[in-house]
Amino acid sequence: MKNLDEDIKLQVTNLTKDYGSNHVLKGINLTVKNNEVVVIIGPSGSGKSTFLRTLNKLESPTSGSIIIDKVDIAKKDTDINAVRENIGMVFQHFNLFNNLTVGENIMLAPVELKKENAKEATEHATKLLKMVGLEEKFDAKIQSLSGGQQQRVAIARALAMNPNIMLFDEPTSALDPEMVGDVLGVMKNLAKQGMTMVVVTHEMGFAKEVADRVVFVDDGQILEEGTPEQIFNHPQNGRLQSFLDKII
Ligand code: ADP
Ligand code: MG
Repeated sequence: MKNLDEDIKLQVTNLTKDYGSNHVLKGINLTVKNNEVVVIIGPSGSGKSTFLRTLNKLESPTSGSIIIDKVDIAKKDTDINAVRENIGMVFQHFNLFNNLTVGENIMLAPVELKKENAKEATEHATKLLKMVGLEEKFDAKIQSLSGGQQQRVAIARALAMNPNIMLFDEPTSALDPEMVGDVLGVMKNLAKQGMTMVVVTHEMGFAKEVADRVVFVDDGQILEEGTPEQIFNHPQNGRLQSFLDKII
């Protein structure tokens, strides 16, 4: 019989994060299964970015545990670099290296970390660029690309290490409206291919269509979680109801 734990990619238990006297995360509990797409929604300042950043230890938690692939990354002695290789992260502001070409950005980590030689990395980057619809941009300068194109390069770069979970922090919030669809389309395809994803977004259409589960965070706590149908059509929590009234 298959052990149920085998299906769990990420398990967060009683996670807290304080910045001085500012209690930003107040005890988050969340389990994400393999191949699951979890969308996090909630008001600005509620701790969504802080939460995502603790998941690959860009911020260290104040207390609680974060188990990814059975390794507790909240522990001090965990080799976080090894864990990070399996976690892809995409930020609101792309964070690409502007002095490198598109191809160089994507090939950087696999080559530096000796996961791929130059030939393998070139082939892999070419394949990833095709996947995000930018195969002709291999040698382009980052600055010559639109915001939407840059974000798709950032997704390709995050995929270059063959992560088994992808974290997205408002990947379309900095984009002009006409660019949003292409980026969401790439994310949708990734989900279809079975990528495990945690996505912070204000794109409720994406959440409704792609999420297996939607999680509402407010004031550093998960106040409600459920299927898109439950969250958007039958919200129970008063704060979720008023959040949805404001944005939809
Ligand atoms: P969200 O992504 O939901 O808008 P954030 O996680 O960015 O929320 O921020 C939550 C709270 O944490 C805010 O009050 C913010 O000021 C605080 N915060 C975030 N990062 C830091 C930091 N590096 N140092 C101090 N306070 C921070
Ligand atoms: Mg944020």
